Amino acid sequence: MMAFMTSAPIAPEIPGAIIALARAARRITVLTGAGISAESGVPTFRDAQTGLWTQVDPEDLATPAAWARDKPYVNAWFLWRVHLISAATPHAGHRALADWARRPDTDLRIVTQNIDDLHERAGSEVLAHLHGSLFAWRCDRCERPAPTPQAPAQPRERIEPDTCPHCAFGEIRPGVVWFNEALPERELADAIRVCRDADLVVVVGTSGIVQPAASLPHLAGARGIPVIEIDPRPTEFSPFATHVWRATAGAALPALVAAL
Ligand code: NAD
Ligand code: ZN
Repeated sequence: MMAFMTSAPIAPEIPGAIIALARAARRITVLTGAGISAESGVPTFRDAQTGLWTQVDPEDLATPAAWARDKPYVNAWFLWRVHLISAATPHAGHRALADWARRPDTDLRIVTQNIDDLHERAGSEVLAHLHGSLFAWRCDRCERPAPTPQAPAQPRERIEPDTCPHCAFGEIRPGVVWFNEALPERELADAIRVCRDADLVVVVGTSGIVQPAASLPHLAGARGIPVIEIDPRPTEFSPFATHVWRATAGAALPALVAAL
């Protein structure tokens, strides 16, 4: 048996139909999930080995009930995420999306479920952060915005939240959408609009489990708009995608944008 070895990473082969769709599209909607940040070292929730949720029950952390029960515990966990994400850097896949958006005659809209800021730091404008942001803290009572608190350099189990300087009653919570909370209205409306008016929808790195975000690509599919999925593993959406590309975001997106 012969074995072939190479020293350079192999550029992923782009399915021809995907290049053709990407070249023809003018209005492109990109839906991203935790998987696009994986190659920046930010763990996805459901990744078997590294998913944050394999060690921690989300019900203990990312719910209004958890916050009501133990604010310092929830606060410390989210501040540790601030630390980790601040230390992470965008990768070539994030940058490729920013490059794609700068091409002439191109209107590329990014809708993300991610609470990190890696798209922005790669030079992209994000139309909608469906699940809020780790960098948009606010008062849990009067809702007025507050600066992101100082993140610890080491993980800590408990950190007292700051008291709101405006109302003096509330405490400062992360601006992320917790389980059992509603999505921000403007963001959701924009996401729905750009899934309906696109020439092409590209779904990258989302398992398609968390609703209502998981329904968005179906809005496009129902209108006959082609939907491409880029994900190394099968997802809930895979059977409905027009084309599936089994590749990572960091390999696929730079290759695709280079081929435009
Ligand atoms: P998920 O964890 O449910 O699914 C991640 C998907 O990414 C999987 O389908 C996986 O196969 C895929 N994936 C893994 N590595 C990849 C890679 N290198 N390139 C492309 N795809 C890859 O994530 P979700 O669908 O976004 O939903 C989980 C929820 O978790 C969301 O609400 C999101 O807000 C939150 N979350 C956010 C972050 C973040 O902001 N970076 C991180 C973890 C979780
Ligand atoms: Zn307040």
